Amino acid sequence: KANRQFHEDDSVIDIDGVKVGAENFLVCAGPCSVENEDDMVALGKKLKAAGANTFRGGAFKPRTSPYAFQGLGLEGLRILNVVKEETGLPIVSELMSTDYIDEFVESVDVIQVGARNMQNFDLLKAIGETDKPVLLKRGMSATMKEWLMSAEYVMAGGNDNVIFCERGVRTFETATRNTLDLQAVPVIQKESHLPIVIDPSHAAGVRHIIPSMAKAAVMSGANGLQIEVHEDPENAWSDGQQCLTPDEFSELMQTIDMLLEIE
Ligand code: PEP
Ligand code: MN
Repeated sequence: KANRQFHEDDSVIDIDGVKVGAENFLVCAGPCSVENEDDMVALGKKLKAAGANTFRGGAFKPRTSPYAFQGLGLEGLRILNVVKEETGLPIVSELMSTDYIDEFVESVDVIQVGARNMQNFDLLKAIGETDKPVLLKRGMSATMKEWLMSAEYVMAGGNDNVIFCERGVRTFETATRNTLDLQAVPVIQKESHLPIVIDPSHAAGVRHIIPSMAKAAVMSGANGLQIEVHEDPENAWSDGQQCLTPDEFSELMQTIDMLLEIE
């Protein structure tokens, strides 16, 4: 179902009116983790003004250490809904367990499947039974074929609303957190009719690399970006080292708008 062979035209994924794969370039921005309500609303307003068309924030966080902050949980989903009410931005958030699928269907616009869950087949099957748009991140050591098959798991259940998200893969390199594989864009677009977006934040893991990779992503023909932004990156509850400030994000968006006109 994900294969271009059976679906020649590009698929368009409609996120509450944002048409990814067609007229809208997805700009999904926000903090790594959902934090205090007032800060999230203030950030959401700045991101929208800068050109974001969806707001991201993790309520359930897949942290490497069990002692690290695990996310606000359902309280995070409530806060995301306040952000949506105050800004109108559709919400993207990561679902880690089938336990909360009903709450996610109820309160987010896009279910994010994180890199660590790309091959959590029970989760993919459960999401396949909903009709929610899915942002399917590439596993950190997954081949593109495996990634395509994960989309197939979601689609096999009847949910065709899958968006791929390349977020860097593990390599021998240690100067960056992961290595951004921009070749995924032409490969996935040839193999599949589904849109693909780029997350330079988790690929780089360091702030200064993100603008150049975001610009390269636009020119590669990607259908959108996911970028972590925080008002005060030094004090972010997770992934602060790779968050842009709202000003940096806004400046980047101006360049991206220009590039989108060329592309
Ligand atoms: C995230 O989006 O904050 C995240 C944990 O991403 P990934 O699954 O790509 O590591
Ligand atoms: Mn993160």
